[in-house]
Amino acid sequence: MSEATIEDGKVVSIHYVLKNPEGEELDRSAEDAPLTYLHGAHNIVPGLESALAGKQAGESFSVKVAPGQGYGEKQKIKPIRLLRSKFPPDAKIEKGTQFLMQGPDGRPMPIWIAKVMGKEVHVTPQHPLAGVTLCFDGTIQEVRDATEEEKSHGHVHGPGGHHHDEDDHGHDHDHDHDHDEEE
Ligand code: ZN
Repeated sequence: MSEATIEDGKVVSIHYVLKNPEGEELDRSAEDAPLTYLHGAHNIVPGLESALAGKQAGESFSVKVAPGQGYGEKQKIKPIRLLRSKFPPDAKIEKGTQFLMQGPDGRPMPIWIAKVMGKEVHVTPQHPLAGVTLCFDGTIQEVRDATEEEKSHGHVHGPGGHHHDEDDHGHDHDHDHDHDEEE
């Protein structure tokens, strides 16, 4: 009876393992919590999203994503130097940790720690996996229709999705807004 096919407007749950071409594991979904995303909303890297289109729950996948369709080509970007004291005192300050910073346009911008040098922390707007070919292997757990609210927000709510009642990483929109500002 499951004829839900992955297409725009579907909520998709996948289990996956991500490796680099050398076979080193970079990331994997938690055993009890598949990655859940809204298809067509650019919640995941473009190369994986387009490879999953048309598949159904129960299918497995093995996808190689070039950097241009993944986290981007590696660019020479000068790191930004910040003082350790600029970070929350309880923050985990180590290479690869992601933070949100206020970008030039006032919107939150993701940054990653590139290096820690004593009291100085070097951060970069470049994703740590920029320039890396991504090898995904996984299975599709579930495909369901997104709710209207999820579609208007552009992300999944509930298990595996956004919880607006906590600090969700600077993702600040409220649920009291009228729907007259939808496109
Ligand atoms: Zn939302």
